[in-house]
Amino acid sequence: MNYRSFVLSSSIVSMVSFTEENYLKAIFHLSEQENGKLVSTNDLAEIMQTRAASVTDMLKKLSEKKYIHYKKYQGVALTAEGNSIALKIIRKHRLWEVFLVEKLGFKWDEIHDLAEQLEHIKSQKLTDRLDTFLGHPEFDPHGDPIPNAEGVMPTIRAVKLSEVETGQNFTIMGVSEDSSTFLQHLDRLGLKLGLELKLADISDFDQSLELELDNGQSIRVSSEVARNIQAKVRSVS
Ligand SMILES: [Zn+2]
Repeated sequence: MNYRSFVLSSSIVSMVSFTEENYLKAIFHLSEQENGKLVSTNDLAEIMQTRAASVTDMLKKLSEKKYIHYKKYQGVALTAEGNSIALKIIRKHRLWEVFLVEKLGFKWDEIHDLAEQLEHIKSQKLTDRLDTFLGHPEFDPHGDPIPNAEGVMPTIRAVKLSEVETGQNFTIMGVSEDSSTFLQHLDRLGLKLGLELKLADISDFDQSLELELDNGQSIRVSSEVARNIQAKVRSVS
């Protein structure tokens, strides 16, 4: 091996592979779901759709690279470095989802699989430019927060529309139901991402919601629809 190919191969070794990135991201999501508890190998195997033995091999590797703390039979947690890598991938994933919906006109139910591929593009410059191009969005089209360039998640969380109070102004941030019948239903109602509305009234009879647009028009949605829309409440100016 000559010097140049040695340098090349060692820089490849130190890079995080596609699979490693997916593991770090999976550990991040699982630990978030479990409120920071150690993530079990079995849960990881299930989410990665692989055998526990393959998971164990990968965990050893990630542990050697100091991306995770791995205690046999107990589970894993991300190190600060592993956490920062996971947040970068999540940031890219969610930014690409915004881009796909807002700029390329993809439907909400089409974007996740594409973002799973796009999130692995390494270029920091591309991510930063994408972020600027999109106007530094805080939420992806599912209403999930986008970590900023420093890896900090926005503190304002989206809430379910069903949790918004009468009289409050809000912006539609995303949906938590991806079925095409639901998305088509929203289309027919004229509800789309980024739309600013006011919750004018909730019916005592069937808990349906009357939403008011800026132009005074109103849209009535069922409580079932409201449970599946993510909203960000805006303070009234
Ligand atoms: Zn996604």
